Amino acid sequence: MADGLGWGEGTAHPDEDALVAHLAALVDGPAPGVLRGIGDDAALIAPDLVWTVDTQVEGSHFRRDWSSPADVGWKALAVNLSDLAAMGAQPVAALVSAIVPDGDASDLEPIYAGLGACARTYGCAVVGGDVASGPGLALSIGVLGRIAAPPPGRDGARPGDVIAVTGALGESAAGLAALRDPALQGLGGVEGCIAHLRRPHPRLAEGAVLARVAHALMDVSDGLARDLPRIARRSGVAITADLDTLPVHVPVRDVAHRLGVEPGVLAATGGEDYELVVAIDPADVAGCGVPLTVIGEVLAGAAGVVWRGTGAEAGLAGWDHLARRAPNP
Ligand SMILES: [Mg+2]
Repeated sequence: MADGLGWGEGTAHPDEDALVAHLAALVDGPAPGVLRGIGDDAALIAPDLVWTVDTQVEGSHFRRDWSSPADVGWKALAVNLSDLAAMGAQPVAALVSAIVPDGDASDLEPIYAGLGACARTYGCAVVGGDVASGPGLALSIGVLGRIAAPPPGRDGARPGDVIAVTGALGESAAGLAALRDPALQGLGGVEGCIAHLRRPHPRLAEGAVLARVAHALMDVSDGLARDLPRIARRSGVAITADLDTLPVHVPVRDVAHRLGVEPGVLAATGGEDYELVVAIDPADVAGCGVPLTVIGEVLAGAAGVVWRGTGAEAGLAGWDHLARRAPNP
């Protein structure tokens, strides 16, 4: 789940996590066979099966002048597969619900071409769905994944662990900034950031490996500044993290400097990274089989995240608006 424009991931709601908790209470009831329900990136509905759903809405998650219909189809599935990666799962099958504007289905063919390309890349069958008419284009996809062992979830971080991430952060944030301000598109490497925003690559292979060794695991869809506190709260631990240690590529640094934002702040708040973040025994980092960058540590103490490093003293919340919200398309 994620956005980049505004209402994705529930970011326009003042407190998505509180809303989810409230709604969860309304649907609480018998759940025979369900091993883990709401609270992780996907639900564990059988010893070997996880299940999740996510929606992409025109104007909130994508703009048609910034992404092609094929990009939209790719991303609608990819963001779901990222949640499977966060559970250490491999894709099994997807159901696709599409809403087309005023019954105009003309974009569905290229959307499905992009969706199909993503599905074939990651080995996910598309087994059904439906099409309905509505005020705007939206794609809601539910995916089923298979796991080999119980996944770590978000609640297993323990004092003494380190916090580490896969890949690099801030690419999509830089890409979004460049789409908003074409003057930034002349910076070297920015086209790769735009490509990452349009077609993210879920870390399925890495997730399967990390699920065997990590104590906590989730994907970074809202930006670490929002996602890391979810591990801290669910695990009941204190986390300290350092903005200056975040893996940030040169084009992202260049864009951040042009925006007048510290690169670490842009990387922590931008969202749509679709990397994985883990809490892991420091002895397991080097030999776990997945390249990781250590960016923090887990301590005993009140549940929450304390950020250090350049820009942290100004607080991260103020940049959230800049990094995540676009003017109404
Ligand atoms: Mg997620």
